[in-house]
Amino acid sequence: MNRNRIAMLMYRGHMTQLLEGKTGLVMGVANKRSIAWGIANAANKAGARLILTYQNERLGENVRDLAPQLTNPLLLPCDVSNDGEITTLMSRIGEEVGHLDFLIHALAYAPREDFRIALDVSAYSLVAVSGAALPLMKDRQAGIVTLTYLGAERVIQNYNVMGVAKAALEASVRYLANDLGPHGVRVNAISAGPIKTLAASAVGGISGMIKLNAERAPLRKQVDLDEVGDAALFLISPLSRGISGEVIYVDSGYHILGV
Ligand code: NAD
Repeated sequence: MNRNRIAMLMYRGHMTQLLEGKTGLVMGVANKRSIAWGIANAANKAGARLILTYQNERLGENVRDLAPQLTNPLLLPCDVSNDGEITTLMSRIGEEVGHLDFLIHALAYAPREDFRIALDVSAYSLVAVSGAALPLMKDRQAGIVTLTYLGAERVIQNYNVMGVAKAALEASVRYLANDLGPHGVRVNAISAGPIKTLAASAVGGISGMIKLNAERAPLRKQVDLDEVGDAALFLISPLSRGISGEVIYVDSGYHILGV
């Protein structure tokens, strides 16, 4: 989409159709509190057709219950710790749609202190799904977005091995951005402030973190799903066509604070 067309859509107040005619893959919906669900809603409202994946049949039931709220989504299984499932997913998308304009990677897992699994599911999976999706995304001005957290660069109590995994994820965003840029694919991350989700409830003291963020952050409020969804919408839309390899903070400004 060229600059004049974007300007025209904005001028007419048609910002909501920013993703008209686009198709995207959203990975990581577990329930209605998932960040992936907030992003799916924003992209759906902006006119995109969505493919949602679910990790297993149990979570698949939740996703099937939520799906009617979207326009004609395609639902497919994918456990990212299994390369075969990633390959099968991309070939199903290839057969049913033929291409992808964006990919949202909003998933993470750290069973207690297990370093290998945390890095595999939370960081390596971005490299695996991006590589597998490349044939569907190249030369389409496509965008990939993943979710990270401040614990990647500062010590956050109880975040532990997930902070190490997020640091690897953010480094992977930069390397992938450089590898995929020549194919017309941008790769960025959103560093979200704390939000009460299934994954976040595994981090001890999440309620206290949310309260602290709301009290101290420059905007003096907690982050919500719509804010993360809209930032993701920006990052997968042509409005961000000059941005790649970046980490954008959607945390009410919390990360700028010192003591
Ligand atoms: P969530 O529990 O709703 O989502 C996590 C998702 O990861 C689930 O859908 C789960 O099925 C999926 N997942 C885990 N292992 C998987 C596997 N092997 N294969 C496929 N999917 C798998 O929680 P969320 O908070 O929405 O998490 C989404 C992303 O946002 C994560 O990367 C998380 O680290 C990040 N994040 C969350 C917060 C927060 O406070 N909630 C803040 C910053 C970043």
